[in-house]
Formats: sequence, structure tokens, C-alpha cells
Amino acid sequence: MALGKDYTGQDCTLARALEVVGERWTLLIVRDAFYGVRRFSDFLVHLDMPRAVLSARLSTLVEHGVLAKEGHEYVLTEAGLSLWPVVHGLACWGEQNFGELGPHRLFVHADCGTRIAPDGTCPTCGGAPVRPADLEIHPGPSAGLRDDAVSKALRTPHRMLTPIET
Ligand SMILES: [Zn+2]
Repeated sequence: MALGKDYTGQDCTLARALEVVGERWTLLIVRDAFYGVRRFSDFLVHLDMPRAVLSARLSTLVEHGVLAKEGHEYVLTEAGLSLWPVVHGLACWGEQNFGELGPHRLFVHADCGTRIAPDGTCPTCGGAPVRPADLEIHPGPSAGLRDDAVSKALRTPHRMLTPIET
């Protein structure tokens, strides 16, 4: 039997989730959507990925209700927004295990300026995990010097989910 690209026969809900967000590039597209990237051309320049692959991944995300297409823009749905703990958790895991250079971006509670903990809560304010809309993205110690419009916009603090002006 040929190995398919899906996990037929796996009834675990993790396998079903991976069919939607587990392909190469997909979580980076979702991450960029949290950063406020909405236009095809902006995903393309920031991710440096093949146009056809981006097109296919965006279609999959829209088909499964992670992104909604509004005119020429792709916007996270409620299901998409609820992926934030996954994106943030994986980024923290990467930093802890493979992050010799330090994080590329810091996620900061906008109300108080404190970097959120790996569990998503604010060490200063406490309480429930901070919602994405209440976070700012700050350049981290390993922030690159890429010259595309999205990278440039993210060199200064940027409120998460606010459209990137390019
Ligand atoms: Zn706080």
C-alpha cells in the first residue's frame, strides 16, 4: 500500500489536526496571519516559498475553516485564532531546544510590557493566558535583517492581528 499524505486509519484527533496544519509551511502561514499578514503577496515575500505551494496551503486553510477569505485578504477565523497556544507553544519549544541564538520575536503583553510565559500567561498580571489581540510582537535578539516589507514592518513593536502596512 502506498503511503498517502493523510493519516487514513489513524482515528486520533492529533492526526486529524495534522492533516490540516501539519504540512510544511502551514504553521508558518498561520503564524504570519497572527502577525497581521493578510495578502497573498505579503505571505509570499515574507516566507520565500513557492507561489504554487502557498496557494495550495491557503486553500487548505480556507477549506478547513482556519482562515477566511475576505476580498483579497486572508483572516484568521475563531478556529484559526484558537491555534495561538499551539503556535506559541511550538515556538517556545523550539527556543528551549534549538534556540542557541535566542528568539526571533518576543510576545509581550501590551498592557504592561511583560514578555508572556511559555504557557501564554503574563508573569506580571497573572490570570488567564493573554489573548492574541492583547499581545505586541517585538523584535528578539535573533531578529534577522531580512529586507522584505513584512520583516521591515516587524522591526518595531506591532500589535498582533493588526494588518501589516506594506
Ligand atoms: Zn501583563
